[in-house]
Amino acid sequence: MPMDVRAQACAYLRAGKVRVCSAGPGNYHPPEWVRARVEGQSSTYFVRLADGRWVCSCGEDGCPHVAAVQLCTGHGGLAAPSRRKPAGASR
Ligand SMILES: [Zn+2]
Repeated sequence: MPMDVRAQACAYLRAGKVRVCSAGPGNYHPPEWVRARVEGQSSTYFVRLADGRWVCSCGEDGCPHVAAVQLCTGHGGLAAPSRRKPAGASR
């Protein structure tokens, strides 16, 4: 992933633009499915993980919205520089 995508993803996280609506199953970590929302500059993007595939409503491949949600949910996939627990995970 290009550095600027990761930087953008981190910026979304820092600015609190990433909302994970639901993820599961249960407390499984990292989650097998995710539904999240990212507030972009001009509109809100919907990101989901299903069947091992990340899809974003912006329609681009490797976009920063997906990267931000991956960071948020502990998916090392594209963006994570190191493993971190997502906010809200107590264990
Ligand atoms: Zn996107």
